[in-house]
Amino acid sequence: MRPTRFSNHLIQITKFPNLFPINAYFVTEDDGLTLVDTGLPGDGRGYLAHAKALGGPIRRIVLTHAHGDHVGSLDELAAALPGIDVIASVRDARFLRGERALDADEPQTPLRGSITTIKTALTRTVSAGDRIGSLEVVATPGHTPGHIALLDTRDGTLVAGDALMTLGGPAVSGTFKWGFPIGPWVTWHRPTALTSARRLLALTPTRLAVGHGPVLEQPGPALEQAIAEAEAALAGGRHG
Ligand SMILES: [Zn+2]
Repeated sequence: MRPTRFSNHLIQITKFPNLFPINAYFVTEDDGLTLVDTGLPGDGRGYLAHAKALGGPIRRIVLTHAHGDHVGSLDELAAALPGIDVIASVRDARFLRGERALDADEPQTPLRGSITTIKTALTRTVSAGDRIGSLEVVATPGHTPGHIALLDTRDGTLVAGDALMTLGGPAVSGTFKWGFPIGPWVTWHRPTALTSARRLLALTPTRLAVGHGPVLEQPGPALEQAIAEAEAALAGGRHG
């Protein structure tokens, strides 16, 4: 697992950097570290080692969504860190507890990707506008029904999870890219993901950090192009 520091507040931890990169992020706070996402099963010790190297205890873990490559090491980390805060969205928390049903007011499109149940009890569930330390919760449904992104209010860094991808070029979740051809197969509802991407662009982030692919500085123009591509793909009927 490879650490890369992007600012005083953001450290990316990448598994399989050359194969299929899976990113989690440490966000520094005055009281220690927030870990956003937890990679694949078996990576817990790696995150603990990186946290130690960064000099901070992990105070809380935030899950952007309920897919297995983002919640994989949550249970082992929670076991190793008694009393840790474990936080997810109100909606995806239900998937993490084992539910798989869609709500009546949601698009009745089959869930996609590795929706995963965890053993650990969440200590907090959050919705749009809530704060987790310096991070503001942004509702970004589409990839999963309860996906959230996190905006660092100190410097405009956006940790977008899988709402956006940069592997194979910037893309709205669910858009086909030759460098990330499985995109359409792991995203629940692409029109909803597109609406969420527009919401993220409107935040004018200064830095974009995603679950799969490199961090982008000043991502506005790239994000505009990705949204235009997603709009064109949806208008062309390629709903995936
Ligand atoms: Zn995902």
